[in-house]
Amino acid sequence: MICIGIESTAHTFGAAIVDGESRKVLSNVIKAFTTEEGGMVPSKVADHHVDVCQEAVSEALGKAGVKPGQVDLVAFSQGPGIGHCLRIGAGVARSLSLVLKKPLVGVNHCIAHLEICRFLTPAKDPVLLYASGANTQVIAFESGKYRVFGETLDIGIGNFLDSFARALNLGFPGGPKIEKLAKDGKKLVKLPYSVKGMDVSLGGISTNLKTKIKSGEYSKEDLCFSVQETAFAMLVEVAERAMAHTGKSELVLGGGVACNKRLQEMCTMMCEARGAKVFFLENQFYVDNAAMIAVTGIEMFRAGQSTPVEKSEVRPSERTDDVSVTWR
Ligand code: AMP
Ligand code: MG
Repeated sequence: MICIGIESTAHTFGAAIVDGESRKVLSNVIKAFTTEEGGMVPSKVADHHVDVCQEAVSEALGKAGVKPGQVDLVAFSQGPGIGHCLRIGAGVARSLSLVLKKPLVGVNHCIAHLEICRFLTPAKDPVLLYASGANTQVIAFESGKYRVFGETLDIGIGNFLDSFARALNLGFPGGPKIEKLAKDGKKLVKLPYSVKGMDVSLGGISTNLKTKIKSGEYSKEDLCFSVQETAFAMLVEVAERAMAHTGKSELVLGGGVACNKRLQEMCTMMCEARGAKVFFLENQFYVDNAAMIAVTGIEMFRAGQSTPVEKSEVRPSERTDDVSVTWR
């Protein structure tokens, strides 16, 4: 089964081709909206998606060596995400489904981050630390559903890092720039550490950092280093608590922040300490991508799920545990 996946929940428009039989990602085209300064304006990002969507789809087919007629299934990110952006991807997916006369399946973006880990690694029943721009959640499968065991009580870790980077005039996305500067940081600056049960809160550190930046007393490098050490320790702590609570012994990561080598190192240390396994993916599968949408679409379709065009409305606020999981 050849599936074309379409992703457009936020800054990235993605198109990918996945072969369900050989379990191979044949192509994974990622067109990300970036800026040198400032953040994302939803209508501008949606314009970007309109500009690149046709090229992304042609490129995905071309790189995979798949002709449109060979596609068996169209999967798209139905939510959660930014409405303006979701609508572009949904429109493209509906058109493909209608023109190719192939079934359509709407996929939950957060669940897709976990499913691609199960598809590409030996992990069978992992806990997912989903650390992306807008989302920060600890997700695992329990009693028939993907459930959120912990999450941010305010902003997502990526948005938190981006907003800190913006305050330092580093541009968007800020995460990679922070990671680079953090390598030259030497001093651990004390920042608020806020873990509440299996949840984290990042708003307090964000405010605290802005005051520290204004004071001019700290180097960029030390601040970046300290932000990583503090915020990532919080994430790893809640991921570990979820593993202990669910009795699961595999950890996987998802989301753009999962590309961070220091976060990966901290996860490895935690898993080694508790005799658990951690599995990593290539960065192209951590950032928002359409391969994970195609992979999940295939699983759902094989379990008998599909989304008629008239029920393919986007779901900007869909929650992970709203989804009925028929494929596990
Ligand atoms: P996503 O929403 O999953 O595509 O992830 C986007 C977020 O990942 C943005 O907030 C980026 O700043 C962040 N990000 C990307 N690469 C890194 C990195 N190496 N370290 C930390 N954050 C990163
Ligand atoms: Mg994401």
